[in-house]
Amino acid sequence: MSDLWRLTAHEAHEGMRAREFSAVELTESVLERVDACENATHAYITLTPELALEQAREADVKFAAGSATPLTGIPTAVKDLIVTRGVRTTAGSKILDNFIPPYDSHVYEQLRRAGAVMVGKANMDEFAMGSSTEFSAFGTTHNPWNHDLVPGGSSGGSAAAVAAGEALISLGSDTGGSIRQPASLCGVVGLDATYGRVSRYGIIAFGSSLDQVGPIGRDVEDVATMLDCISGHDPRDSTSNPEPMPDLRHYLGRDIRGMKIGVPREYFIAGMEPGVKARVEEALKTFESLGCEIDTDLSLPSTEHALAVYYLIAPSEASANLARYDGVKYGYSYRDGESMWENMEQTRARGFGEEVKRRIMLGTYALSAGYYDAYYLKAQKVRTVINDEFAAAFKKYDVLVTPTSPTVAFPIGAKMNDPYAMYLNDVYTLPASVAGVPALSLPCGLSDGLPVGLQIIGNFFDEGHVIQAAHAFEQATGWANRLPG
Ligand code: GLN
Repeated sequence: MSDLWRLTAHEAHEGMRAREFSAVELTESVLERVDACENATHAYITLTPELALEQAREADVKFAAGSATPLTGIPTAVKDLIVTRGVRTTAGSKILDNFIPPYDSHVYEQLRRAGAVMVGKANMDEFAMGSSTEFSAFGTTHNPWNHDLVPGGSSGGSAAAVAAGEALISLGSDTGGSIRQPASLCGVVGLDATYGRVSRYGIIAFGSSLDQVGPIGRDVEDVATMLDCISGHDPRDSTSNPEPMPDLRHYLGRDIRGMKIGVPREYFIAGMEPGVKARVEEALKTFESLGCEIDTDLSLPSTEHALAVYYLIAPSEASANLARYDGVKYGYSYRDGESMWENMEQTRARGFGEEVKRRIMLGTYALSAGYYDAYYLKAQKVRTVINDEFAAAFKKYDVLVTPTSPTVAFPIGAKMNDPYAMYLNDVYTLPASVAGVPALSLPCGLSDGLPVGLQIIGNFFDEGHVIQAAHAFEQATGWANRLPG
């Protein structure tokens, strides 16, 4: 019984339904695991054990009443930019270290409606800017596979919590790869749905035309279940899509014979580790043996521009979104200045970290009168070209398969002084984000003992085929729920 933290969410659901154990026992097992590992991983900024036990007791009542749903009683980590009423929400920033939200985000409301249990608020790069979780103002998260390595980012806490057994499932957010890249580096599954599928109401904003919350889990079935729970139209977010989400669980266990898979050649570039390349090539053979038609002759020529486009658009939107942190309305406030202006200036100078300041400067410059056309407007135009290339590819292919990240997890500190090297870690995840198409990362093997992630990209609103391909691959390879150690 003490090993309940090892279960996937769907296994735990079956166990609770069959009365083999209660939601309280499951939560206690996860909280014990947190006690045992958290010093080494630091996956959380804030732990909420009392709230978790209270929610677990409510979940047991639901099971007794026969009103439990697949996530009822499931211990969940929630990225700390997801607003939770009464529970401190920092976005990984000193500027919000005392922020207690007065309301709930849409996704947390959905979690609570389902009866899920919140273990705590997961660590992250400040305002989700980063690829390693080293930019958190609350200290670095360590990769559960090797504590000297980064877990990826910016949802590194959410991915590490699931990989370490400090939660069965989690919510992260993806602006340019922040669900998929840490899922890849921690050997778990992460899914970024089509932009607009998941409401941004109550999500602390980074780049609003890119931000999207999504699940990280131990297998494909769990992320499908979580996306089902949090997606759907929400009138409080004007970009929330009214299109109904098909039941994703319907795509599990389906044959993929005849599925057409495109492999864009621009994703196989210098800088990719040989171990990553080898695992991805093996994965393509697996798909072939499952009866898929693989085409490696696909070219998406604008792929290489996605990085530049993203690093103009995301910082531009961030510079506007972060203007609200002025020390007046909420959060950290410097008050010893001579004037209101000095107080605002000092609040921002002291409250924001280096990377956030770098992004604000980049974005302000790109939006400034003299440079708007040359940078921001141009980036928006190239963004349309990237969208069009994906749309054309999906006329021919059901899904695209690529690596998630060019490397496995790297040592803590290795890229801290080289922002460009850090940005390059997202070359494979940025294009799907810029276009807004759904993409999933799942484990496809090890390189030097560390997990390698495979990315499956789908057409707009076609999460179904992504889940179908990923689940068939996972079943064929036995890569579901392999925890470190
Ligand atoms: N690593 C990218 C960045 O630093 C993406 C972050 C994200 O998806 N939130 O902006």
